[in-house]
Amino acid sequence: METSSEVITSLIQKVLEELATVDGPRGEAVDGLFPTVNDAVEAGLAAQKKLIGMSVERRKDIIASIRRSVLEQNEKLAAMAVEETKLGRYEDKVRENILCATKTPGVEDIEPRAISGDNGLMLLEYAPVGLIGALTPITNPTGTLINNSIGMISAGNAVVFNAHPSATKTSNRILKVVHKAIVDAGGPPGLVSSVASPSLETAKQVIEHPKINMLVATGGRPIVNIVLRSGKKAIGAGAGNPPALVDETAVLRRAAQSIVSGASINNGIFCTCEKEVIVVEEVADTLIKFMAETGRVYVLNPAEVERVTSLAVTPERKINGAYIGKNVQVILRDAGIQVGEEYRLAVFDAPCDHPLVWLEQMMPVLPIVRVKDFSAGVELAVKVEQGNRHTAIMHSTHVENMTTFARAIQTTIFVKNGPSFAGIGLGGEGHTSFTIAGPTGEGLTSARTFTRQRRCTLVESFRII
Ligand code: NAD
Repeated sequence: METSSEVITSLIQKVLEELATVDGPRGEAVDGLFPTVNDAVEAGLAAQKKLIGMSVERRKDIIASIRRSVLEQNEKLAAMAVEETKLGRYEDKVRENILCATKTPGVEDIEPRAISGDNGLMLLEYAPVGLIGALTPITNPTGTLINNSIGMISAGNAVVFNAHPSATKTSNRILKVVHKAIVDAGGPPGLVSSVASPSLETAKQVIEHPKINMLVATGGRPIVNIVLRSGKKAIGAGAGNPPALVDETAVLRRAAQSIVSGASINNGIFCTCEKEVIVVEEVADTLIKFMAETGRVYVLNPAEVERVTSLAVTPERKINGAYIGKNVQVILRDAGIQVGEEYRLAVFDAPCDHPLVWLEQMMPVLPIVRVKDFSAGVELAVKVEQGNRHTAIMHSTHVENMTTFARAIQTTIFVKNGPSFAGIGLGGEGHTSFTIAGPTGEGLTSARTFTRQRRCTLVESFRII
């Protein structure tokens, strides 16, 4: 029987151990964390050499181990991400981690292709690029690292991560979880690595490091542009401003429920979330009424819109970072509006030049713009998407309208009659990716994205028909 002081001592010991595993640099390589970028790179290079010497079965074991460990640690990781970044919602971070652990493609994604014909056999294999440098966003520190690790390692690479500095503790923790899972499955240490204290300076070192073969940036437009100027093979997954277009043929109750769920998941911080609604005038009132009837939506009146806008948008017409990813209760409270805990989103009638229609707000405040007809809606939606080639959503039962909009908007993800997150595999078919490469065109990245293609041709033999 433990005495109460023994219980307290053991609790303190536990907390100290926890802190030891989440704290930053200790001047030595620990569990994939290194004092310098150069150390992380050298460890990654050595590990990648070992990985390609191992069997494909072992690689599959490593990926299975990563998936398992992430799921085991999920609640802690989700809580830590919300606590450190102050962005998003715990329950949605839990869903994000499960999605990335279970629906990121593994080694099966790089199965070779073979073509046989009169002239013999051609074999196409997806070979590793070697060492990848990956920059991850503050909005999804765990999801992106899980998703990138599974994809990049499945393809036979090692990866040096550089997380957003404001998500250092969470990123270090998830990196350690993934690193341990790799080693536990018999994989080489250092396959995932990072500096213990990532900064913009260490990001620059990763970008410029001569031994890093490929860069993958998940973040805003500036960092995508920086990696594209690096002179290396670079994959850029940039910002979005996804419009949800609703025409007069939509099933309106379903459209309303989908938009509310999609726009409010993780308080709007997913790059794929609906960021503005464009609705044909004749059905606008019904759509808003059905949104309100979900019991999760507060409809702002014009005076409230002004107050909320002045909080959300700075005088320089930029998004106020203080409200990014916050619960709607916090934003509305500061605007003098009290709502219950069940609320997830605030919506409002907006003129088409309202700043929240054009800026990527990443908060649960959603403008709704009325247009006279479908054609006007398409025209506006294409403009507000601003060539990001990211995500668009449409609610309609008119097949030709859906085709017309999809062709006009040219986004990487186009969701019809569901919430935006269906497009990343949450309640929709297909794999998930938290690195959606619109600017560079790879789309929802997966293991195959992180490869280089090699062809082997055998002339005039090996055809058996
Ligand atoms: P961010 O661009 O500020 O940061 C992303 C990463 O780049 C971080 O690791 C950051 O440290 C690094 N970085 C930024 N500027 C840098 C510089 N000048 N030099 C070196 N490194 C630099 O983005 P964020 O605020 O962390 O994340 C939110 C943004 O990411 C949103 O715009 C969102 O749409 C986008 N995002 C896109 C995807 C996608 O798959 N397309 C996924 C998630 C988030």
